[in-house]
Amino acid sequence: MSARVILLLFLALAFHLRASAQDVRIGVFGLFHPRQLTLEASRQEAVILQAAGQTLILEPGSRAVASLRISNGALLLDFGEHLVRTSEVHATARNNGAVTFLLTVPGKITRAYRGTLDVKASRGEVVPIITMDRETAVASTVAAESSLDTPSEALKAQAVVARSYFAAGRGRHRDFDFCDLTHCQFLGEPPPEDSPSAMASRETRGIVLTFLEKPFAAMFSRSCGGRTRTPAEVGLPGSAYPYFSVFCDFCHKSAYRWTRRLSFEDAALLGKGESGRLAVDRRLGWNAVPSNNFTSHREGEDVILEGAGQGHGIGLCQRGAQAMAEEGSSFRQILNHYFPNAALIRLGEHLASGTRNQRLLPTYSLSLIGREGNSPIPGK
Ligand SMILES: [Zn+2]
Ligand SMILES: [Zn+2]
Repeated sequence: MSARVILLLFLALAFHLRASAQDVRIGVFGLFHPRQLTLEASRQEAVILQAAGQTLILEPGSRAVASLRISNGALLLDFGEHLVRTSEVHATARNNGAVTFLLTVPGKITRAYRGTLDVKASRGEVVPIITMDRETAVASTVAAESSLDTPSEALKAQAVVARSYFAAGRGRHRDFDFCDLTHCQFLGEPPPEDSPSAMASRETRGIVLTFLEKPFAAMFSRSCGGRTRTPAEVGLPGSAYPYFSVFCDFCHKSAYRWTRRLSFEDAALLGKGESGRLAVDRRLGWNAVPSNNFTSHREGEDVILEGAGQGHGIGLCQRGAQAMAEEGSSFRQILNHYFPNAALIRLGEHLASGTRNQRLLPTYSLSLIGREGNSPIPGK
């Protein structure tokens, strides 16, 4: 093998490592358990479909629709005069890279996405998986997880939390890394470039939370009820970052309070911390029991729960972060408050321009960009 071939192989491998480190694979629309999907090109660019050795083209603005449905456990791709039976469909731009497309579950939802698309058949359902740039995923998550009145420093804190989760929390599902629901993180369409969510993502580009110099899958919840929780308190396993119980001034002064009436049978599921709460939510619907922070008493055949907070209460408190931002805190101060002993780094972007030595590239490089306040890393 010539030196040139070896160099090309090395560059291909290096590029692949870089590309895969900055992309996230997200399974979408699982909520709908779709048996059929349609795919359309945007007005700007063509979508190239590969299925069973054939290449089909959705021209931009053509209104041509490719339909995918389950048939005898496989996928049936229906496009114009083509009817292709296949196990998998792959969709990209003409250059094999990311493309903007419209994905629809007929009668349920249509969304625009940007990335490359793989569609599989699994357990009688059509499973669309989008491989998208991590920064696109971060902006799409911030837009989906934040309310419209969230101040920009709180949006930036949310962007760093979302990015940390995408960078360090892979492997949450069998066929892809993350879903688009609260099980992982809500994910909608990429927001417009000039939207507050997109700007918050751009202004924190590459920044993640780390503990002992490793990014960790940072958690957050809607409101903590007065202090944040540790995983152990709500019956969840420990993680790479040792979460602390942090006092939350805003929720302490004006906690989100709730009351629920459950049957004795449903309430019996609640004994097991977060898993019990989610079991009740699965049975009765989302938000049936908003948080783990409650007292209970019997009333006839029922159980009355009186609680505070929304969500598991671990990590960033969104309401608390919003209040801190309104009072002038920066995103760094907010993250420093809710994640004591963590440090912020920017994932290395210089990897894109190659490397001076010929070692295999790390998937990220560390450059410390801020460790504030009075929370030194233990032992340092
Ligand atoms: Zn998930
Ligand atoms: Zn709070």
